Amino acid sequence: MRHLAVIGSGPAGYYTAEALSRQFGDQVHVDIIDRMPVPYGLIRSGVAPDHQSIKAVSRRYEATALTENVRFVGNVSVGRDVSIGELGEMYDAVILATGAPADRALGIPGDDLPGVLGSAAFVGWYNGHPDFAALDPPLDVAAAAVIGNGNVALDVARILAKAPQEFVGSDIVSHAFEALGNSAIRTVTLVGRRGPHQIAMTPKELGELGHLARATPRVDPADLPPAGADAALEPGLRKSVGHLRAFSVLSGEPKEVTVDFDFFARPVRIEGEGKVERLIVERTRLAADGAAEGTGETYAIRCGLVVACIGYRTPPIPGVPYDERLGRFANQEGRIAPGLYAVGWARRGPTGTIGTNRPDGFMVAEAIAADQPDPAGKPGRPGLDALLAARGVDVVTFRDWQKIEAAEAARARAGAPREKFVDLAEMLAARGA
Ligand SMILES: Cc1cc2nc3c(=O)[nH]c(=O)nc-3n(C[C@H](O)[C@H](O)[C@H](O)COP(=O)(O)OP(=O)(O)OC[C@H]3O[C@@H](n4cnc5c(N)ncnc54)[C@H](O)[C@@H]3O)c2cc1C
Repeated sequence: MRHLAVIGSGPAGYYTAEALSRQFGDQVHVDIIDRMPVPYGLIRSGVAPDHQSIKAVSRRYEATALTENVRFVGNVSVGRDVSIGELGEMYDAVILATGAPADRALGIPGDDLPGVLGSAAFVGWYNGHPDFAALDPPLDVAAAAVIGNGNVALDVARILAKAPQEFVGSDIVSHAFEALGNSAIRTVTLVGRRGPHQIAMTPKELGELGHLARATPRVDPADLPPAGADAALEPGLRKSVGHLRAFSVLSGEPKEVTVDFDFFARPVRIEGEGKVERLIVERTRLAADGAAEGTGETYAIRCGLVVACIGYRTPPIPGVPYDERLGRFANQEGRIAPGLYAVGWARRGPTGTIGTNRPDGFMVAEAIAADQPDPAGKPGRPGLDALLAARGVDVVTFRDWQKIEAAEAARARAGAPREKFVDLAEMLAARGA
């Protein structure tokens, strides 16, 4: 039997388990270890709560989880409960699928003021990740600035702009649902360093902004390149830019909330007395190489909340080679060191969609087959179980997770699929229900 440990139960972890099962058939045991008592990584805690159809991909991972040779080992943090070195002694290979859960820092003066948040924290808060359940973002303010021009920024802007009735059918956690229902925010400014042709927003998600019950998206027509220039764009981006063009000519009175696209604006500092009051940006223009070039002209965007959606980093794990510049594990097509591999965001950085993680699993399965034609007779599961038991680690099995899942469904708000537990102790207690 070949014993393999996958660290992380997000898309990359499950696609890898699927690929390993295909590669090695019934000659493999795959343990998927996660620091959370619940599986699926950002499918549960990142993908927007009002996008339930996307979250449904977890049913596919469940099918993998329920196969004979795959096991979920939850509530076990690698680096805290067990080290990479120890796992290397017990498993033929260790595959890091730990994602990129840490916010990249804005790195401008004032970014430590109360009211300045990263998207991992803000998204984790409305999605009920236990690490961020107590965040309490300031929503008693008139305006918010959302920095970034990708889909995460769109998610954050949309969640801030939506009316309570638009969360029907979502699994937004009650603390966020109530806080957003009482929110005083009426202006959300999406701040991008470059222009409409440089956005990383996909058409479906951008188009959605034009159909909100109480919010109007607004684009300054002066920011748009001449219409003829769109022809050179790849089709998805062309469609997205088409939405921006539509937002620039919306007629009639704006609704209660406005979502303003502020292009060619580079954040330079955040100001306020003891909390954020203004985001100062520098007007930019596109340089010949496509980068944003400062013009020296600055202005203030008044706001009491700043959410930076500018990317993520993989936290290093002691003993694992790390690429500081790229913020992910140092690897060559998934290979880190003999017996140690990386997949997903931990390998590539925070880019692409859920499906982009799938080929990583197959690439690493093939690499393991080529690097280690025969298993080395390591202890595998019994070795890990003995070590965790000796350390008193309270391991959560997939069966336990199914009980937690059932308990979350049973306490859901009317119309919602679940009410997530946002507290680790509550999650663990729900296994006994
Ligand atoms: C806000 C947001 C919204 C998104 N929305 C969409 C969308 O609508 N559609 C789409 O296609 N893509 C979306 N994505 C992208 C998608 O979520 C990612 O491509 C995908 O989740 C990356 O998978 P991963 O497995 O590499 O990482 P993750 O999903 O982050 O999984 C990593 C797992 O590793 C675990 N872990 C981390 N460290 C340790 C450790 N030390 N020990 C044990 N376990 C550990 C974590 O608990 C987690 O479960 C979104 C991303 C974000 C941030």
